[in-house]
Amino acid sequence: MKKQVRIIGSGFSSLAASCYLAQLGYEVNVYEKNDTIGGRARQLKRDGFTFDIGPTWYWMPDVFERFFADFGKKPSDYYELIKLAPAYQVYFGINEFVTIADNLPEIVKTFEKIEVGSGQKLASFMNEAQSNYNIAIKDLVYRPGVSPLELVTLETAKKVNQFFGNISKDIRRKFKNTKLIQILEFPVLFLGAKPSDTPSFYSFMNYADFGLGTWHPKNGMYSVILAIEQLALELGVTIHTNANIEKIEVTNGTATGLVVNGTSIKGDIILSGADYHHSERLLDEKYRAYSEKYWEKSTFAPSSLLFYVGFDKKIEQVEHHTLFFDVDFDVHASAIYDDPRWPEEPLFYASFPSKTDGNSAPEGKEAGIFLIPLAPGLHDIPELREEYFEKIISRFERLTQQSVRNSIIFKESFCVNDFINDYNSYKGNAYGLANTLLQTAFLRPKLKSKKVKNLFFTGQLTVPGPGVPPALISGKLVSELIEKNK
Ligand SMILES: Cc1cc2nc3c(=O)[nH]c(=O)nc-3n(C[C@H](O)[C@H](O)[C@H](O)COP(=O)(O)OP(=O)(O)OC[C@H]3O[C@@H](n4cnc5c(N)ncnc54)[C@H](O)[C@@H]3O)c2cc1C
Repeated sequence: MKKQVRIIGSGFSSLAASCYLAQLGYEVNVYEKNDTIGGRARQLKRDGFTFDIGPTWYWMPDVFERFFADFGKKPSDYYELIKLAPAYQVYFGINEFVTIADNLPEIVKTFEKIEVGSGQKLASFMNEAQSNYNIAIKDLVYRPGVSPLELVTLETAKKVNQFFGNISKDIRRKFKNTKLIQILEFPVLFLGAKPSDTPSFYSFMNYADFGLGTWHPKNGMYSVILAIEQLALELGVTIHTNANIEKIEVTNGTATGLVVNGTSIKGDIILSGADYHHSERLLDEKYRAYSEKYWEKSTFAPSSLLFYVGFDKKIEQVEHHTLFFDVDFDVHASAIYDDPRWPEEPLFYASFPSKTDGNSAPEGKEAGIFLIPLAPGLHDIPELREEYFEKIISRFERLTQQSVRNSIIFKESFCVNDFINDYNSYKGNAYGLANTLLQTAFLRPKLKSKKVKNLFFTGQLTVPGPGVPPALISGKLVSELIEKNK
């Protein structure tokens, strides 16, 4: 008889794991508490507009290709990818912006125009970044974080100093112009920590950015969720929505089942893709491997305040992805990491998917997503959300020199309380546990429970870390571990 795997959650990591486990011959059931699948990558539809609620940057296309190739498929079997050209735009002042092209030679020229000599430096920085990418993404991140020895290879031995230096220092040693520094520090923000707390080795994110480009799946990131759902169904996975897991049942130190909406069901293996902290709270205290103190002192990636806005006209002077770095990044970063508080003048990010994708807004209208990174755990009330919307929309109008306020048809927001209510997220974090040196690979919470047999974890709080590509990899790693454990 086939072994029964019960998976909690239907985010990228859980769905990826469900495919691998079904392929390995397990009988797989996925339980999602919400009424739709996708977790942080769910979709919002309103009045003819479509928004990705969470991820909007499709980076590292090779990781998606590798995922589908494991099943003899290609991304193009399920969704259409568009390479964004330009990749994105960064505002630094009124009508003052830098546009990042979709290819390195053009970006080198842009750098050279801003700082003489920086083009050549960028080319050599990118060589190193590419070499790190080849080591990290093609190999290291596909290791399960079981032992420190996984990180010891011929290649990493040559780069050991890059694990102890930080990326912020490296960039500042090479580049003097603050705009260029901010542009080069941007990609590591996806890892959830300050660039000054992110090891130099993570420059592979710069290669992901400038080297591999920024892509848009037609109909948004949610089309990738639908693709993996389709693959899972083809492989025989059963997916249950509105299925809240209330308890992980343990008998004599072995996970034996789940309580779903009040009903107990048996399982041979339990895998949770819900946030690690919440997943362990589904266990009796003696079975939890990580204490409240552990989570309290961990470095969490930021939470966010998000707005999904329908505009009744096209918005000018912006690209599909537009960053607003017109204020001091260090002050905002300190409000996230050092002294958690609502930032006085936040950096923010805006995305207008309807610039590229006609399906995301009705003809002649624009879909806008605005994101302000925030410290997890902040007091979240409607008045503060409104105050911050006012702040950023005023800045947006001033910097892009246009009036948009009167063209808003509707806006919806999502913040700390929604992350907690919708995803059982610890303190309302958006992107899980940051990738600092002390929270990398074997130093992250483990894929396999240290206290309960047949209990496993996946997702952005475990190995390898935050982001959609790592979530896919996490699903693969945990499935291999489950199979090995058999
Ligand atoms: C606003 C935002 C922007 C982002 N931008 C990007 C980006 O541009 N590019 C990128 O690559 N990454 C981005 N990310 C990160 C990326 O979305 C995540 O790393 C990834 O989607 C996490 O997947 P996951 O499977 O680990 O977790 P989740 O997606 O959180 O899945 C966990 C699931 O478990 C469910 N669950 C929780 N508790 C229970 C329970 N008791 N019973 C049943 N189900 C339960 C939740 O509802 C959820 O569906 C972004 C994230 C956010 C929030």
